[in-house]
Amino acid sequence: MNSLPSQSPVWHPFTQHAIAPEPIEVAGAFGAYLRTPDEDLILDAISSWWVVTHGHCHPKIVAAVREQAERLDQVIFAGFTHEPAERLAQALVEMAPDGLSHVFYSDSGSTAVEVALKMALGYWRNIEAPRNRIVALEHAYHGDTIGTMSAGARGVFNAAYEPLLFDVARLPFPSAGGEQKSLDAFEAACKAEPVAALIVEPLILGAGGMLTWKAETLSEMRRICDRHDVLLIADEVMTGWGRTGTLFACEQAGIAPDIMCTAKGLTGGHMPLAATLCTSAIFDAHYSTDRSKTFFHSSSYTANPIACAAGLANVGIWREEPVLERVQNLASMHERRLARIGVDNAFSNLRQCGTIAALELKVEDEGYLADVGPRLMEQFLSRGILLRPLGNTIYIMPPYCVTSDELDSVYAAVAAASAVAQSGGR
Ligand SMILES: *Cc1c(COP(=O)(O)O)cnc(C)c1O
Repeated sequence: MNSLPSQSPVWHPFTQHAIAPEPIEVAGAFGAYLRTPDEDLILDAISSWWVVTHGHCHPKIVAAVREQAERLDQVIFAGFTHEPAERLAQALVEMAPDGLSHVFYSDSGSTAVEVALKMALGYWRNIEAPRNRIVALEHAYHGDTIGTMSAGARGVFNAAYEPLLFDVARLPFPSAGGEQKSLDAFEAACKAEPVAALIVEPLILGAGGMLTWKAETLSEMRRICDRHDVLLIADEVMTGWGRTGTLFACEQAGIAPDIMCTAKGLTGGHMPLAATLCTSAIFDAHYSTDRSKTFFHSSSYTANPIACAAGLANVGIWREEPVLERVQNLASMHERRLARIGVDNAFSNLRQCGTIAALELKVEDEGYLADVGPRLMEQFLSRGILLRPLGNTIYIMPPYCVTSDELDSVYAAVAAASAVAQSGGR
């Protein structure tokens, strides 16, 4: 049982404490599993909110963190530098799409996106052609700060803050068949007024509902950006580090963004760290003897050495271990299981993007929609599986070390979920 005090002062994220079940205490983790204090195992089929790539507590990352913690814990990063940050930046530039030559560190996906937006606006201002129009996709999610919520879709999650959110031009989501409509809307937005930047989650929108879109559409968006001199920001916070089947999702479109955000998988999911990469054009626009052109951004823990060491260990794993093979193997394991589960007509809209599989559970009563996610989650947990549906969208995003048998148990739990949907409220 739970050993934590029942009157905990902790306020959990995205949690309605009045109706949420007691949080589950986790005491340890390894591979694809979380371990409770009672030694119960929970199969982490969402990679602990999309961050753990190779598996929990990968020994190489653990060793790197331990070693770095004893050497250099933290140092101010303005006017100072250190080896883990330098080496990681070098590796990122080598691994990222061509043309991304500079690396700005921060500590979360949201801050990586804030930095990207500020870089874009700073670029236009510093070259003395100010632009501030941001274009974003319908259903987008870019983080939970005021700036990133502004770029993201509006809804119940940000209604209270709406008065402070800035306006963006919103493109219809380029769903299958709707690509041209989205591209036309982008072209029209560019003609209507100068656009500073287009921000997208390449190939798959995460929190917006695991919505997939075509690589060719992204290539086409890159061409429109070029035609109208618009900066392309790729928010690869979720899609990076193999999630979509390639190291970065942009690779599948054969394009390079002007700015790229990476976070979640950057340290393999071990430490909070983010990086915003940009082209030399953007760096150069801030490079001046005029101090007012400085990029004015920092967070206290910018490029924390321990986090950078974890990032470097992750890079080492990518270079030394067959990670891409594991990713492709996981993708084909999903493919076979999705095909099997697809015969159950309780599910619709089956889709996959690399290591991520998603489907909709058909829900008869719209009234259950809001409640179905938490009810399903409880059902999955009772089978020892961590899945956290977005409404009636069930998605499976395990760490790459997941075995065929483990994945079978996840799909078995999903298959059993169709009964839950019919069983009504609690
Ligand atoms: C998770 C996510 C973010 C925000 O990252 P945090 O580390 O949670 O701040 C931004 N963009 C995308 C696409 C994400 O999936």
